[in-house]
Amino acid sequence: MEDLHPMIKEHPLWTPTLSTWREIQQILTEITGFPIGLYNFQREPVVPPSVKNRLEELVCSTEKGRDILNRFYRRAFDRSLSIDRPLILSTPLNQHIFVIPMEVDKEAPLFIIGGYTYLRYEDFSKAVENAKIFDLKEEQMASLAQEVIIRDFKTLEAIANFIHVITTRLLTYSISADRTLLLSRKQRALLSLLPGLVTSPSREEMMKQIFQAFCVLFDAEAMGVMAREGERFATLYAFGERKGDLKGLKIGVGEPTLERVVGGKPLYIDDVFFILEMGFGDWVQSLYILPLLKEKETIGLIYICNARMEEEERETIGNLISFLSFLWNYYDIKNELERTRHEFLILTEIHKAIGSILEEDRLYQAIIDKSTELTGAEQASIMILDPESKELIVRAAKGINKALIEHLRLGLGEGIAGKVCETSEPLVVDNVEESLKKKNRPRYKTKSFVIVPLKIDGRTIGVLNITDKITGEVFSRDDLRLLQSFASYASIAIERVEFFKMSEDLRKISITDSLTGLLNRRYFQGRLAEELERARRHNHPLSLMMIDIDDFKPFNDTRGHLAGDDALRLIGRTIREAVRTIDIVARYGGEEFAVILPQTDKRASRFIAERIRREVEGTVFPHKELPPARLTISLGIAAFPEDAKGLTDLINLADKALYRAKALGKNRVCLYGEEGP
Ligand code: GH3
Ligand code: MG
Ligand code: MG
Repeated sequence: MEDLHPMIKEHPLWTPTLSTWREIQQILTEITGFPIGLYNFQREPVVPPSVKNRLEELVCSTEKGRDILNRFYRRAFDRSLSIDRPLILSTPLNQHIFVIPMEVDKEAPLFIIGGYTYLRYEDFSKAVENAKIFDLKEEQMASLAQEVIIRDFKTLEAIANFIHVITTRLLTYSISADRTLLLSRKQRALLSLLPGLVTSPSREEMMKQIFQAFCVLFDAEAMGVMAREGERFATLYAFGERKGDLKGLKIGVGEPTLERVVGGKPLYIDDVFFILEMGFGDWVQSLYILPLLKEKETIGLIYICNARMEEEERETIGNLISFLSFLWNYYDIKNELERTRHEFLILTEIHKAIGSILEEDRLYQAIIDKSTELTGAEQASIMILDPESKELIVRAAKGINKALIEHLRLGLGEGIAGKVCETSEPLVVDNVEESLKKKNRPRYKTKSFVIVPLKIDGRTIGVLNITDKITGEVFSRDDLRLLQSFASYASIAIERVEFFKMSEDLRKISITDSLTGLLNRRYFQGRLAEELERARRHNHPLSLMMIDIDDFKPFNDTRGHLAGDDALRLIGRTIREAVRTIDIVARYGGEEFAVILPQTDKRASRFIAERIRREVEGTVFPHKELPPARLTISLGIAAFPEDAKGLTDLINLADKALYRAKALGKNRVCLYGEEGP
């Protein structure tokens, strides 16, 4: 107990209570896999959880995250003190937790917090999307997907209630007795047995282990488990040497002796008369009967024959009822839990596979591939709603002839897919012909299909159609459930891609000139700075070419501005096509262009410039009915490092060379520093 909070270390009641609690906490964590810990009001750990909650640790690593969580827990602690059952609530990270106060010292209550479970995968995805709120990046949170626990609400509640019972008990012991009452060796042995029970392969095996424990600890002679069948309890399993005597036993639910058990409480009887009356043989001298509960209802009972237990020990076992019941019912939900876990792993995989795709068509194809893989289907298509025409358009498909569906467009509400999109309700059909009175199309092998809507924030953006299970079976509710989870994830990925595309478009708009499609002046200057830096680093030459159209004003004046614009476009394209892909062409001003020629010295750039000049000279500029016209350009070149080392100087010198070309009669190339004719 060395690492205890100083306040608690000194407290006469806390010390024994806590050492017991520490053991129980350890056992419960092993059984449930939930992080469980005991904290003071400042949320400092008093008995820290043995399973780490890395998500919360991550959030607490930022000041903002810590602040949000502290405020949340402060409120939760306050609320938990005013109710007499476990407080179950959802955290700012969408995890479900329970909070149970342990009030040995009213002045300084402690709080058990446990669970940290997600009820659905989507809750985790939502938390990841909200990463910003905690000053975190989505990737940081998403990287913890593997550690997320997904359990249903009932499990969480059962465990919370069980812990509540235990702590209440623990506190009654601590407070009422002046002696330090710890659990007896036997009681502790019983508790330590529990973790193993969850992993037993069957209910019968689990009960057998419990019986063996009762044999060793309390010399129990036999044990039976009865399940309620209508108005009777009938023996399901019996253990012990005399199990043969118990096998056929049935007891009426209305049996007066059992009233207490049917009411949900344990019963100890050693009155042989009553025991015989219930139908037991005369070898049974005492019975300890425990109810098996589901919610509040007694669904069965466990009885232990001829065990030697102290009253106190009986009490401990009695307190285990809710847990035994939990274990019993656990087998019903075990498969469910395993499936949820399986699904969760699949979805995490999908998260990895499609979360990073930023290219639209590849994403749609990946969604198709994953969804068919997930459901074992052969055919699928994804239809996206075009916001303008309000039509569903097939964006990707599998197992269906592409040509067949490429031009397929469905209005909203039109056809089955159109209806699903309109109502936003998923649809599973076992047999098209029966349930929709529609002839099955020959291209489908089976008559069963699933359609799920793709939704973002309640807005339907399209549908996912899945048809033809490879096995020929019909699609199950499980397929539907899985697909729905998948769809919600796919929708987020689609939204991200759309957003990315939009921002790409925006980026393009902001760097290009709308008339010519060439880079604009602002962006060009940034690029020139970068290229100069690179040339400097690698010790390469670089040439800069400035181009101005000759006598463009008269051209505009006689042929009109629209013809002028056409000419600008055409000259822009001519320049672009005359240079290499690594060269950077921009519209520098009204009728001026600039070209960066990386890794090119002045001598080499002259050839390129001459080629551009000739191309333009040879170009005919048509415009509607006007007679075809001709245009020429003048070009000036300056080079790095020969003429200038800095950006501004380089531009000015190239400009100077251009002026010289104009002065010498236009339609020519001039290099800076070269005194030509
Ligand atoms: P110089 O040979 O000396 O270059 O003579 P110039 O007539 O071309 O003179 P300048 O370079 O000053 O030409 C500017 C003219 O370019 C003015 C305008 O008529 C034309 N111009 C500039 N921007 C545009 C544009 O976006 N569209 C059209 N149609 N014409 C433009
Ligand atoms: Mg000009
Ligand atoms: Mg000009």
